[in-house]
Amino acid sequence: MALHPAGTPLSLPGGFFPAPQASLYLHIPFCAGACDYCDFYSLPAVPGDPRFPVFIKLLLRDTEDILRRFEVRRIPSLYIGGGTPSLLGASGIERLLEGLRSLLPEWPRELSLEANPESADAPFLAACREGGVTRISLGVQTFHEGSRRLVRRVGEGALLPERLDLVREFFPAAFSADLITGLPGQDKGVLLRDIEKLLLREPAHVSLYALSVEAGTPLEKAVRDVPPVRLPERDEADSLWLLGRDTLEAAGYTQYEVSNFALPGKRSIHNSRYWRMENWLAAGPAASATVIDDRTGTGFRYTVRPNLGAYLGRSGSAPPLTDTENLDPPTLMRETCLMGFRCIEGPDHGLFIRRFGRDPEDCLPRTCSRWRRRGLMHPGKTALNREGLLFLNPFLEDVFEELGNSLPVRSSAQGPLDG
Ligand code: SF4
Repeated sequence: MALHPAGTPLSLPGGFFPAPQASLYLHIPFCAGACDYCDFYSLPAVPGDPRFPVFIKLLLRDTEDILRRFEVRRIPSLYIGGGTPSLLGASGIERLLEGLRSLLPEWPRELSLEANPESADAPFLAACREGGVTRISLGVQTFHEGSRRLVRRVGEGALLPERLDLVREFFPAAFSADLITGLPGQDKGVLLRDIEKLLLREPAHVSLYALSVEAGTPLEKAVRDVPPVRLPERDEADSLWLLGRDTLEAAGYTQYEVSNFALPGKRSIHNSRYWRMENWLAAGPAASATVIDDRTGTGFRYTVRPNLGAYLGRSGSAPPLTDTENLDPPTLMRETCLMGFRCIEGPDHGLFIRRFGRDPEDCLPRTCSRWRRRGLMHPGKTALNREGLLFLNPFLEDVFEELGNSLPVRSSAQGPLDG
């Protein structure tokens, strides 16, 4: 990654290419607390925090700037994530959505917003619905107070049923919920009760994540403390995720990505674009954007520095500090595989051929025949099957080796049962 010297704003690469069609990600870096397992960029804040108005103003200004620089004319999807966007409250989200309405060339087909139960109250949800949000993603994780306390998950499990009912009332058939398996204190009974309580509210989409202990998080320290926070043994954690998968599938949800399940027609448009590596722009501290030129198989990435103080303290009309990276064709091909093989359909063939002049099967003959022989790939499709997705990481190691490189240490592409 090419780091710009401090004080250097976003600069575009030589031979800059416009992105007439691009999704948009906005990062809201505020949370009511800090969950022990989390490694997203967020800082503690309270409802009505005095930093919110100036943050929203700068976020809108940056959005206007990038839409203009990249000559965006179509925005298929917009995702407001974090952090905890619902902490902005009804008035904050109204201001943000009103500002966006005056900036965007058209309203996106999907506008998702992440919310946490403690701040997703009726005025907030009404402001979202009236302001054009089409989909809420609610951080449930678990109803079980014991597990929540052991990982210091923000909010209270007791509030969840009521808030899920509210979300369902405002966004019927248009909300997603996150669950985590492998939490301390979780067993099969706890997980099944969590899923049962959630499915009673009929979410259109469920993300089922296996807990991973990320380096540098408080959870990493807590599992080494004396006495330690005890996570389920590896086999138990694996069987919890599998139980979750099977229960969701039995209830009619289809797994379409390594951790994501949806009712028919309810897949996430925005995340699917990430997995296909289709253009997205981004604004807000720690937000990262990728713009691709399909004609040359190259890309450009910028990441806004994760520094809220510097973000808010900019002078005049200065853009935020960013780190940038040019993606050459081999790098972009590896990333297209890294993201595409997360999905049950595999990388998009048409897009792959347009970008690289060959289809993924031609690029990976050894890997495909080896994994097909093991019964972990579809016979007629360059994609892992349902069982193969459980071993995404070793599969990607083979992919990277065949493409002439090693898998990045932290690939963010782990299968649920990968080590
Ligand atoms: S609420 Fe979400 S973003 Fe905030 S600290 Fe917890 S896991 Fe991280």
